[in-house]
Amino acid sequence: MAFWDRGTGQEAVSGGAAVADFWLRLWPGMRRSLPLGTLGELGVEAAEQAMPLAVFDIQHRGKPGRWADRGAVAFGLEDVDLTHRYALAADKRLRAAEWDCCILADGHYADRWAGADAYGAQVYVACHVDGGGGDRGTAFFDARSARGPKLAEVVAEALRKVVPWPVLPRPTVAGDRALNTIHGVRAVALCFEPGFVDDPFEEHRKLLVTQAEVLGAALARGNGAWGRLPTTATWAPAPATPTSP
Ligand SMILES: [Zn+2]
Repeated sequence: MAFWDRGTGQEAVSGGAAVADFWLRLWPGMRRSLPLGTLGELGVEAAEQAMPLAVFDIQHRGKPGRWADRGAVAFGLEDVDLTHRYALAADKRLRAAEWDCCILADGHYADRWAGADAYGAQVYVACHVDGGGGDRGTAFFDARSARGPKLAEVVAEALRKVVPWPVLPRPTVAGDRALNTIHGVRAVALCFEPGFVDDPFEEHRKLLVTQAEVLGAALARGNGAWGRLPTTATWAPAPATPTSP
């Protein structure tokens, strides 16, 4: 069964997928309640496949032929450096919340999207700390997405609780740079900008440097909260041959 989060209007997929989703949500609790040894009998692979997977992509870094790309640079701060810090923190926190997590940091974006699809990612976050945004943070979602708006909303809400600047979920459409960071992946996707390297307030820029753990924890908390929401749109591993939206 093909699944595409955006554009088809068929996101409320089959009953089989709904059943699978039910078991996936139940799995962390089931696993805790199993007697010792049972998990081994079920097999590690089965356990790994049953966990929802988030992929955090440190974009700019590792682009073939553009190895020096550091993303936005301002006030001595570099996009990829700040992004790396909060992505690592988010990875650690999300795994503690019964998710699997994978960080990507090399390859053409299309190859990274294909990788996330091949892994069966439920969530894909293009991680940035760009310039030009001013005194705020933004969680961009593909305007065609069925579940992206809610993910952006809860991630933005989690971040708003820990930073002094406004954080908003925003749709992104064809022609936007933000859409170019996520448009080819099947998972529910965000282009995440917790803040901006050229924020006019020095104390805000300092916070981006010193509070990466807090920023990452907020991303993980939002992601986890979204995963617990009831939904009619479920996920399934991508088909072997991707289709375009
Ligand atoms: Zn960037």
